[in-house]
This record gives sequence, C-alpha cells and structure tokens, in this order.
Amino acid sequence: MKAAVLHGVRDIRIQTVPDPVCAPHGVIVKVNACGVCGSDLHWYKENGHEGAIFGHEFSGDIVEVGKNVQGIAAGTRCTAVGFSPCGKCFWCKQGKMHRCSDMALLGYQFPGAMAEYVHVPFAIPGRSVFPLPEELSYEDGASVEPLSISCFSVNRGQPKPSDIVAVIGLGVIGLYAVQILKALGVEKVLAAGRRPSRLAAAKRFGAHPVIDAAAEDTLQAVMQATDQLGVNTVLECAGNQTTFDQAVAMARGGGKILLVGIYEEALHWQPLSVIGKNLTLVGCLGGNFPAVIELLKTKKVSTENIVSHRFGLDQAAEAFRAQLQDPAAVKVMIMPQER
Ligand SMILES: [Zn+2]
Ligand SMILES: [Zn+2]
Repeated sequence: MKAAVLHGVRDIRIQTVPDPVCAPHGVIVKVNACGVCGSDLHWYKENGHEGAIFGHEFSGDIVEVGKNVQGIAAGTRCTAVGFSPCGKCFWCKQGKMHRCSDMALLGYQFPGAMAEYVHVPFAIPGRSVFPLPEELSYEDGASVEPLSISCFSVNRGQPKPSDIVAVIGLGVIGLYAVQILKALGVEKVLAAGRRPSRLAAAKRFGAHPVIDAAAEDTLQAVMQATDQLGVNTVLECAGNQTTFDQAVAMARGGGKILLVGIYEEALHWQPLSVIGKNLTLVGCLGGNFPAVIELLKTKKVSTENIVSHRFGLDQAAEAFRAQLQDPAAVKVMIMPQER
C-alpha cells in the first residue's frame, strides 16, 4: 500500500510499504480521512523519528476483523483510538489493557493512518473503535479525537453558564473548546489567538470579544472586557511562558486555569501568583469519544470552519506544509481515497 513516511526534518515522502497484517485483537481500516495534528508537527519539525507514519486522527471503513474481536463487522464506518498495550503493567495484568500505563501509540510508535490502510492492533468496540452514525461524515469522524481533547478539557473545568471563560490559543483544540463552551450554555466566552482565519472562526462560534494577540495585549483586552475583574476560568491552549503568565494574571480570585496546550519548554513562574488568588491549576489530558460523537450527531458542534484544507495522500508533504505555514489553515485533512 501507499503511505506517507517521514524521512527527516520537514521531509515526508509517499512510498510503498507492506500491507498491514491483522492481529487477533485488531482490525484493519481503509482510511478515508486523516487530520494533520499539532503533535505531528513537533516531530515533523524536529525529526527524531525517521520512518514514522503519522496519523492518529482518522476515520474509514473496517475491512478486516481479527479473530478475537467481537461486536464489530467489516464494512463498518468508524473512528478509532490506536494503542498497543504493554502487556506487563498493573492494568494489563488485570486484563484492563485500555488502561495500560505504558501503551504505544498509533501514528508515533507504530504506523498511523496517513496511508491507504491502518492497523488498529487492539480493537474493542465502544472503547477503542467507535462506529460512526450516518449523520457523521468521514471528516467528522477524523475530528472526533481532537474534539474529544477539547471536550475533556472543558469538562475538567466544570464551567457554569454564568461563568466568564477565556480561551487562549486558537488552534483546533482551542476552537473546538469555544464551540463546546457555547454548546454547554456558557454565555461569555473570550478568545485570543493569532491567525486571521482562526480569529474569524472563533467569532463565528460565538466568542466575544475575540482578541488578536498579534496586534493587541491579550491581558489588557481581557481585563477591559471584564470590568478589570478577570475571568472565572482560563483554558490555556497555547502552552508557552507568555500565555501561562497571562492566564494566571487574568484569572480572578478562586478561578481555574486549565492547562491544555503542550509546553515545549519549562516554565519560570512564581507560585505566589497562584497562591495569592487561591487559583486552581488543572492538568488536562484525555478524551471521551462517545460524548463527542453525540455532540456532532446532534449538531451541537461542527467541523465546518475548522477543516480548512483537503489533500490526497500523494500531496501529504504539501498537507504538512499547509498545516505548519499557511495562514488560512485551521485543520488540514488528508483524504487517502481521493486523488
Ligand atoms: Zn492529535
Ligand atoms: Zn500495560
């Protein structure tokens, strides 16, 4: 089959690789849509991982089912979480492989879905493989994973409709978070980001005000919009020193800071800034696929205005360039069955 293989820094090439072989607990999925993720870009920019086939945000049709897998049939449209349990840890020994504390991840430690087919080595319907209701397109299916991260993170903050929530960093996770907050009935959602296409999307999803962090001082704008009181909850989706400092400064007494963005570098911070205001810092990493599938099915959230670019598998290199550099890019999708 054809796959997009990482060869070095910013060097992705299409090549022929062996077809995947289905493990007894696995399924093979013919890939219809696969998103380029910010996490993929870290490896792509830095190259520690020659030979990697990316792609963990995907959907497609099941074409083969391992002999030990029950409750799902070939032909099912699905999305999946790809992991391979270690078999040795506390959880694995109890047979709770889905909780494995040392799992290998699809699209990083073993081949992902930027290919014609992908092998999901550990397929449990409802836990790692999720059938797509007919209301969901393949693009929707490939968006469930990033959406689930936003959904999980928002839920960690338990916002009330009357809370004022700021979303800092308008990548895909931040933009989906804006949608989910609005779907939960949070009246006042402020958002700060950089690229014009993303600022426009946040506006469309109901954030107000939307702050252009490249042109204005985010903190000043947030304080102005809140009568200098600050916000109840901050979703820090950018993951750097500046945005962390802003989050601490804009949270009002007793507020929460949800740490969602991936920090590439260590922070320098003064804990007194958190202690003095009785703030709660909350780490957020997790997902809930069924909840998100329901949100998409009932149209409470949408991938429209998020999926901005589509490329065939042959243009995978271009897809990565677009996700990294194109100011109009929000989420770039690779559609392996399209030419
Ligand atoms: Zn991702
Ligand atoms: Zn394990």
